[in-house]
Amino acid sequence: MAEFTMELNDEQKEVRDWLHGFAADVIRPAAAEWDEREETPWPVIQEAAKVGIYSLDFYAQQYFDATGLGIPMAMEELFWGDAGIALSIVGTGLAAVGVLANGTEEQIGTWIPQMYGDANDVKVAAFCSSEPDAGSDVASLRTRAVYDEAKDEWVINGTKTWATNGGIANVHVVVASVDPELGSKGHASFIVPPNTPGLAQGQKFKKHGIRASHTAEVILDNVRVPGSCLLGGKEKLDERLARARERAAKGGERVKNAAMATFEASRPAVGAMAVGTARAAYEVALDYAKTREQFGRPIIDNQGVAFQLADMRTQIDAARLLVWRASWMAVNGKPFTAAEGSMSKLFASETAKKVTAQAIQILGGNGYTREYPVERMHRDAAIYTIFEGTSEIQRLVISRTISGMPIR
Ligand SMILES: Cc1cc2nc3c(=O)[nH]c(=O)nc-3n(C[C@H](O)[C@H](O)[C@H](O)COP(=O)(O)OP(=O)(O)OC[C@H]3O[C@@H](n4cnc5c(N)ncnc54)[C@H](O)[C@@H]3O)c2cc1C
Repeated sequence: MAEFTMELNDEQKEVRDWLHGFAADVIRPAAAEWDEREETPWPVIQEAAKVGIYSLDFYAQQYFDATGLGIPMAMEELFWGDAGIALSIVGTGLAAVGVLANGTEEQIGTWIPQMYGDANDVKVAAFCSSEPDAGSDVASLRTRAVYDEAKDEWVINGTKTWATNGGIANVHVVVASVDPELGSKGHASFIVPPNTPGLAQGQKFKKHGIRASHTAEVILDNVRVPGSCLLGGKEKLDERLARARERAAKGGERVKNAAMATFEASRPAVGAMAVGTARAAYEVALDYAKTREQFGRPIIDNQGVAFQLADMRTQIDAARLLVWRASWMAVNGKPFTAAEGSMSKLFASETAKKVTAQAIQILGGNGYTREYPVERMHRDAAIYTIFEGTSEIQRLVISRTISGMPIR
């Protein structure tokens, strides 16, 4: 187990500086254009692939960093550049982690390379869990997967929504119910390979922020996938379902909402994205406050402005510490006895919303225009309190964890 440290080692500093350079030189200058276009920034993803940032190897290296600081450091730097573009770069990682966590070695080896493609032909992947009637309440999802034993195929029907890269992905990872009576214990994840008939993009959403990231519905109409596309394999699924049925038969023991608990470990990464956006807006506001003069002096000479910046910086640093702690705990197998993953996401995302709003205030009229980036950063920041579990759901998980109540 790695000791908890608040200091990056030399190798991590080198990676951080390299990522910061990419964020400053490639991502930030492209941010306003792709925000206006509301399209996936393929050329930027390709640049990221060329230098090795858009690749499984890079994420695996950060993911398995025993200090736990690899992923939060990488997310903070990329999202400091721009949240919409950064999400287009890291969105594939959500689907890849789904396969890494549940797939067999063969599935990992077959599908993850197809999620990324290569620098000359980049591809993206989508993780499709949310549905129109199953957002926070993931256990209630209606997409069904039925096994056709004669053909060793699964037949999937349903509608997914809010899928990052949905419909434009080469590989879709779809969560479906194989036994609705078991709630979330009856869920399984499936790979839908490229060009599978029956999978289509529905509505593409026009969003408030992170507009460079593609978000859409995914319609699954009699989608047939081979048995080998069930993540983890049929034998493992049958054993898991048998255990769940046995427990349910023994007097309806309360079934923990697995999705809520599983997300706990991935939440610090979202917290780190929020820290990146918050830090970006704070830096713009600090520079502006030092140079903008009113009443014959820089506006930072007014305590009303200076104290806002002091609070912004304090909250960003506090958010980063919560994120780093939770990330270190997750990597080192420490149990989240007080839902520390949710805590980090809750605090960091609320901080990003607050700090980006304060940044607009400090820039005055300029802050309210698209001539300056804080307006975009504020729109982007609003997503952090919504996806991967809303702030209310984080509070629900924290309160039920500290009180010993079951998370349903
Ligand atoms: C841009 C974007 C990208 C996304 N990407 C993906 C993706 O790639 N894959 C994917 O599967 N999903 C994705 N999502 C979905 C996202 O995770 C959901 O939007 C989120 O979980 C909330 O679900 P909902 O929108 O249905 O809101 P609802 O669950 O309907 O919530 C509405 C409001 O009610 C509150 N609420 C609900 N239940 C409770 C409760 N028990 N107690 C207190 N308050 C409650 C919520 O906090 C919220 O304020 C994405 C969403 C967006 C907007």
